[in-house]
This record gives sequence, C-alpha cells and structure tokens, in this order.
Amino acid sequence: MIDDSQYGSRDKRGHWKPFKLSSNIPFFDWPFSITKNLKWLLGIPGYIFPWTFFYGSIAVLLWVYFTPSLETMKTFQLGWISYLLIRNLIIMLICGTALHFLLYIKKTQGDAFKFNPSPMSKNNKNFFFRDQTKDNIFWTLCSGVPIWTAFEVFSLWAFANGYFIGLEWIDHPIYLGLTFLIIPLFREVHFYFVHRLLHTPLLYNFCHHVHHKNVNPGPWSGLSMHWFEHVLYFTGTLIHFIIPAHPVHAVFQLLHAAIGPLFHGHIGFDSIVIGKTKIDTHSHAHYLHHKYFECNYADGAIPLDKLFGTFHNGSEEAQEKMMARYKLRSKKMRSTT
Ligand SMILES: [Zn+2]
Ligand SMILES: [Zn+2]
Repeated sequence: MIDDSQYGSRDKRGHWKPFKLSSNIPFFDWPFSITKNLKWLLGIPGYIFPWTFFYGSIAVLLWVYFTPSLETMKTFQLGWISYLLIRNLIIMLICGTALHFLLYIKKTQGDAFKFNPSPMSKNNKNFFFRDQTKDNIFWTLCSGVPIWTAFEVFSLWAFANGYFIGLEWIDHPIYLGLTFLIIPLFREVHFYFVHRLLHTPLLYNFCHHVHHKNVNPGPWSGLSMHWFEHVLYFTGTLIHFIIPAHPVHAVFQLLHAAIGPLFHGHIGFDSIVIGKTKIDTHSHAHYLHHKYFECNYADGAIPLDKLFGTFHNGSEEAQEKMMARYKLRSKKMRSTT
C-alpha cells in the first residue's frame, strides 16, 4: 500500500490534506513556457491521460455502439428516448456502485488519501431516509440521470434536425479534434458561472442547499442535486446553437458532467490507489468548497476563482485569507442590519 504521509499530512482530528497545492493550468502562467504546457498536455499524468482519455473513450464507444442513428433521432419517440435513459442509468449505477463499494464498503485502500476520516452520515435527519448515501442515490437516479438524458435527447435531436450546427469528422478533423479535447475546460468555465449563480441567496435556498448537505461528500454525492440545479448544470451543450460540433461532442460533454463529479471533487479521496499506482482525483479544491462553502466555485484549472478572489489552493495563507474575507463580510452584514 502506498504511504499517504509521503504526499500529505493528517491533523489531530484525522483530516488529511495534500502537500501539493491546487493550481491553474500552465497556459495562464507568465512567462509562457512551451515545455511546461506540453508536459501538462501530454505528460502521464497530464491533461489527456488519464482522465480526458477515460471519459473521451467512453463517449466515443457510446456514440458508435450505444446511440441510435441521427435518422432515428429526427423525431422524438418513446423507443429511443427510453433506450438512452436505461443506457445512462446503467452507466451511473456501474460508476456509483463500483466507487462506493470499493472505497467505502470493501475499503480497498482503507483511509489512505481520505480527506475526512468520518464515514458517510447515517441517522441524520438532514438527509432523505436519514441516510446520506440513500439520499444521494435518490437525487442522482431520480433526478440527475433523467435530466442528463433529457439534455442528451434534446441535443441529439437538435443535431439531427440542424438546430445545432453539425460538422463531419471527414471534413473538419482538426477543428473537431481540438473542440472535443477542450470540452473539460469549457465545462469548468460553464460550471463556475452556474455555480456562482447557485450561491445567490435565492437559488441557494431553493435548490443548491441539497448538494451542500454533503459536507463530507462521497462518490454518490457528486450528482446529488435538486432537480432545478440539474437543469442549470446540464445546459452546457446548448453552446452548440452557436459553436459547430459533432453529436459525439454533446455525448462527451454530458457524460463528463454526469459521471465526472463521482470521480472528482466528491469521491472523498485525493487519490485512488490501484496496486502500486496512485491516480490523482483532483478533488481537494472542491472538497474545500464543500467544507467551507464560499471558496473554489470551480476547481481552479481556469483561474476564475483566482481572478474573483475566492481561490483556496489548500495552503495556510489561503485559509487565513478566506477567514479574513468571512470576517469582513459578517461585519458588513452586522452593520447593515
Ligand atoms: Zn460538489
Ligand atoms: Zn456550492
């Protein structure tokens, strides 16, 4: 087993944090370094391997083998729509069950790289069925998967009918390849703005609090959101009203949005250990968002949090800065009431 104390430290209460601080991608660093950017893009691990490759390959497989033809999807019909719903339910059940079973029931890596030592919450009246995992599964399967599918159905129908601007790989291989590759970064920008909106008092109280019940998240917490948050969360593919692409781009973007949060941000572990290999889940920034609520509205790869002063990279300095921001805000609130 890999020793997690080589990669981070555990405080007296057993909370683990990585030595490595979260940072933006080198593309935004000055002076611009070609070597650093190439290493980030092509290194192993890097931007492409393993995660973009993982989601991208599943999306291609889904498009080639498990998506009806565009001809079929020209009209809304119960047959192909329910086929996509069942296909997506199966994908979600496989991912959620595998991660939860291996990491939280079988505990294949014990508490190694686990941020919060506490187990998933039980006997807690904040959650449906008084059980965090059951509550999370309920929101994921009853709202998350149907709304993911609804956006996929709409997007594919829109491509089939020319409402989304569709291109063929044979005619535009470089443009389509680059736009496919950029999708996870586009998603980060889209998520940042949707998420900021969700933290306005009205939307937080109406819907986003459902996701934030998970102060100590697990894999099933990833897509555990109120239905209205799901509707906003999956709007990213509507960009194809103006940005030309191929239907596989929409399949990829929606798959990434649907299962990505199970593997990143909410998994509860900084790394997944498989034998002697450790795979970074890039989860610490979003874990801090669940812990402190008002920092890291996105994961920091695109420096939007940095730009708006809400970035917490995991350091003591960032912690102090955040606490100072909290104090200033509560002082302001007190003076206005
Ligand atoms: Zn979250
Ligand atoms: Zn939030």
